[in-house]
Amino acid sequence: MAQVQRMSRLMVKTLRDDPADAETLSHKLLVRAGYVRRNSAGIWTWLPLGKKVLDNISRVVREEMDAIGAQEVLLPALLPKEPYEASARWEEYGDLLFRLKDRKGAEYLLGPTHEEIFTLVVKDQVASYKDLPVMLYQIQTKYRDEARPRSGVLRGREFQMKDSYSFDTTDEGLAESYRLHREAYQKIFARLGLDYRIVSAVSGAMGGSASEEFLAPAAAGEDTFVDCPSCDYAANTEAVTFKLTPVSEEHGPVEELDTPDTPTIESLAEHLGVPASATLKNLLVKVDGEIVAVGVPGDREVDLGKLGEHLAPAVVELVTAEDFEGRGDLVRGYVGPQGLEKVRYIADPRVAPGTAWITGANKADTHAKNVVAGRDFEVDDYLDVVVVEEGDPCPACGTGLKLDRAIEIGHIFQLGRKYADTFQLDVLGQQGKPVRVTMGSYGIGVSRAVAALAEQSADDQGLCWPEEIAPADVHVVAAGKALQTELALDVSEKLNAAGVRVLVDDRAGVSPGVKFTDAELIGVPKILVAGRRSAEGVVELKDRRTGEREELTVDEAIARLTA
Ligand code: ATP
Ligand code: MG
Repeated sequence: MAQVQRMSRLMVKTLRDDPADAETLSHKLLVRAGYVRRNSAGIWTWLPLGKKVLDNISRVVREEMDAIGAQEVLLPALLPKEPYEASARWEEYGDLLFRLKDRKGAEYLLGPTHEEIFTLVVKDQVASYKDLPVMLYQIQTKYRDEARPRSGVLRGREFQMKDSYSFDTTDEGLAESYRLHREAYQKIFARLGLDYRIVSAVSGAMGGSASEEFLAPAAAGEDTFVDCPSCDYAANTEAVTFKLTPVSEEHGPVEELDTPDTPTIESLAEHLGVPASATLKNLLVKVDGEIVAVGVPGDREVDLGKLGEHLAPAVVELVTAEDFEGRGDLVRGYVGPQGLEKVRYIADPRVAPGTAWITGANKADTHAKNVVAGRDFEVDDYLDVVVVEEGDPCPACGTGLKLDRAIEIGHIFQLGRKYADTFQLDVLGQQGKPVRVTMGSYGIGVSRAVAALAEQSADDQGLCWPEEIAPADVHVVAAGKALQTELALDVSEKLNAAGVRVLVDDRAGVSPGVKFTDAELIGVPKILVAGRRSAEGVVELKDRRTGEREELTVDEAIARLTA
């Protein structure tokens, strides 16, 4: 049977002050309440209370993964280099990967995620279509040498992840495995008591539901997403697409404007007395070494990350002064698409056919007006490349979008045959011929979820855990006198016998005030105080979240807590 956890024996040392290096609420509170301690940058020790919360999350995850028929396994975290070389991720991960050597000089890595190894496991274990579909998962320690591990367990360099992988012979099968995971995730996050949104992680153009993220809105989040206030559209900002709507309007002929000393959009807009949105900004970049121009409205910023994703695996770089040498066609600060025959022109969909712009005239100190897309210049590719802004129209219904910050707590992804191709993962098909397997990969940040829950539920007093996740159901406080401690321990044993998880503050020589403050900080959902009226067998029951309190007899309190 479970034991009552006694604060007099529990290794928990609460702190009055925030740790100096802590920036986020969860980081501060988890350290102050004695759940975790920093070991070194991005590497954390889980103390008894923290380990309980972590285990509670793992339990919920495990139950829901088992419920969809996924099988739990445990793969090594220390992995040989070869499979990651085969998939090219040994290189692609760059500095994010922890690489090491054994005593013989053979190279290894600490696994950041395990697609390669799971593919090899299934290749070894599965021979026929009859053995599929199969879904495998593990809850395991992952390693990523994150650049700025600043936010406590939100972004660790060592962290706990649930990762699962599905293996199917058909696209329909993969869609079904994906759906099962999506539903399991919805159940998991609901049980954890997390407020979350499911957002599309890839742009509509690339095929909708192939990748979705589960985001927990929180100020400390490092992800930004858009949320439509009037329909159910929500997407990672990188996945937002703007509709291309050609316009048919009459525009006068192109006209040159004398605009001395106006190489920037601000200086140009001021000189002409027009809004920046009337101008066309042409950013020059190098794509695999070749100069490419990117056109966006003058009041918008190019998101180089988005551009890079659209053009991957090509490498996108900014141009330097040297790139202009011998390029008479490129007049720095006065570039316009109407004179760029030899340059590939990428534009934001806002630069739709029929729209007219003020832009560079490809002559020093000169701009041109009435430069019309589709008439005076051609766009080679329309790509969504601008930084999304609050109020941009919803791609689904047109309403102004809201921008919010969130923590990515899960990610589901239809991988397709990428890894199966790399490792020639085939099974014998129904027709007796080999069939290539198709895969999905699905992650949950188990340790990150602890911080996400702390972020969402904490208040001024401290942590405030949802029931399933809390390190105990009730925090019994013995105000101090011998009689009060006796009553507190007695109630604790009774509750424990009834299956309630109890943490009791039976510390001697600690003032009631400190005990109450600690109880608020630790954040168990119910607080039961054996105080002033202990001699009459009356205790006080307090709800940590609402602050509501009532005096009850011991029997009433036990009945309430075991109901
Ligand atoms: P992020 O964008 O936050 O770096 P990611 O997209 O690289 O995350 P995935 O590879 O999709 O992450 O990993 C699956 C899940 O693991 C994520 O949804 C997240 O919850 C969790 N996770 C990823 N990196 C970390 C980390 N450094 N510390 C804690 N949890 C993490
Ligand atoms: Mg992700």
